Amino acid sequence: MLVYHLPGTFQTREPDLDLLWEAGATGLEERAGAIRVYFSERVLLPPAVADGEWHEEPDQDWQAEFRRTLRPVRAGRVTIVAPWQREEVEAGQLPLVIEPGMAFGTGHHVTTRLAVEALDDLGLETRGPGAAGARVLDVGTGSGVLALAAARLGARFAYGVDIDPLTVPIARENAEVNGLLPSQVRFEEGTLGLSPLTFPEEGVDAYDVVVANLYAELHDLLAAEYAEHLAPGGVAVLTGILADKLGLVRAALAREGFAELRETVEGDWALLTARRRG
Ligand code: SAM
Repeated sequence: MLVYHLPGTFQTREPDLDLLWEAGATGLEERAGAIRVYFSERVLLPPAVADGEWHEEPDQDWQAEFRRTLRPVRAGRVTIVAPWQREEVEAGQLPLVIEPGMAFGTGHHVTTRLAVEALDDLGLETRGPGAAGARVLDVGTGSGVLALAAARLGARFAYGVDIDPLTVPIARENAEVNGLLPSQVRFEEGTLGLSPLTFPEEGVDAYDVVVANLYAELHDLLAAEYAEHLAPGGVAVLTGILADKLGLVRAALAREGFAELRETVEGDWALLTARRRG
């Protein structure tokens, strides 16, 4: 790999960057106070950028590097791992295998972890009619991680919907990899309001838990529908909320008749849980 090391930063060398592109650079990267300019072959550079040095560097196997640095994510009783990390799940933890990189939701984002921890705290295995396990709706399911975690944690049924059709086969594959059956967890393209949502059993027309990792403005828009899809006393678990936008989601939940608001803040991110009044 041929890399030209140019002293300075993108800011200090801004007028020179175009010259590098024009000279045939295939990529630019700022690292440790210098600019790394990638070329496929050595070229004659204009005098304004001739103060750097050429280096031949060994090719890096980014895929191997990614696999080496990716860590399992522990969220309550669940440990989320990539397929090659199954052996790393500690005894007593519930394993959840997610193929990283194909859809949002590997567990590495703080909001995903917060949501799994919140689902764990709800005691899903004893919720729902007859305390037979909660029926969970996951809005914006991505890789399916939250619906799958709910199923692992004892939900009777989890239903994941996503507006992006590309996520659906990925989520279904993750269900299969985890040995979860369509009677336990199902994924469809959809969102609240636009497409009719199916229900796990005839005569059942509500969920015990709605979980959604979206963003504050969308929670504000969807709050009425969260309430509509929840059974009385059901719980909304909402995250993807920037901490400074908590007020918007709090107000939306209060407006739609939710009570017992609880929030968790970690760094810039927040999660809210609230109960639909019974
Ligand atoms: N649930 C996963 C998690 O917690 O890691 C993925 C969350 S990711 C931040 C948000 C997902 O919501 C994306 O897959 C996106 O396609 C989906 N999404 C965005 N707007 C949506 C909407 N209005 N209805 C349903 N899904 C939506």
